[in-house]
Amino acid sequence: MLELRPTCEHCNKPLPPDSLEARICTYECTFCAACVDTVLANVCPNCGGGFVARPVIPSKNWKGDNYLGKDPASTTVRHRPVDPAAHARFAAGISSIPPAKR
Ligand SMILES: [Zn+2]
Ligand SMILES: [Zn+2]
Repeated sequence: MLELRPTCEHCNKPLPPDSLEARICTYECTFCAACVDTVLANVCPNCGGGFVARPVIPSKNWKGDNYLGKDPASTTVRHRPVDPAAHARFAAGISSIPPAKR
């Protein structure tokens, strides 16, 4: 299952497992929606890929122990803020390419 990281990697805003603001890339790099839109231009600073909304893990044991109580969220904070100017240079050649074509 996905690693549910606890905060935005850029601004460190809390992103609990039920957050609707969490965005992830294929490598599970995790940011808040505001940072993805305003700072990152939908370009992951670590891999260059795009972001999607992180699914919310079921809080109840609906079936087969596949739920938050069995698979708790990560508590390891990865606060690695990007330099906005450096990221803008990195993203300049990427952000205009649809994520599916990168
Ligand atoms: Zn953020
Ligand atoms: Zn990434």
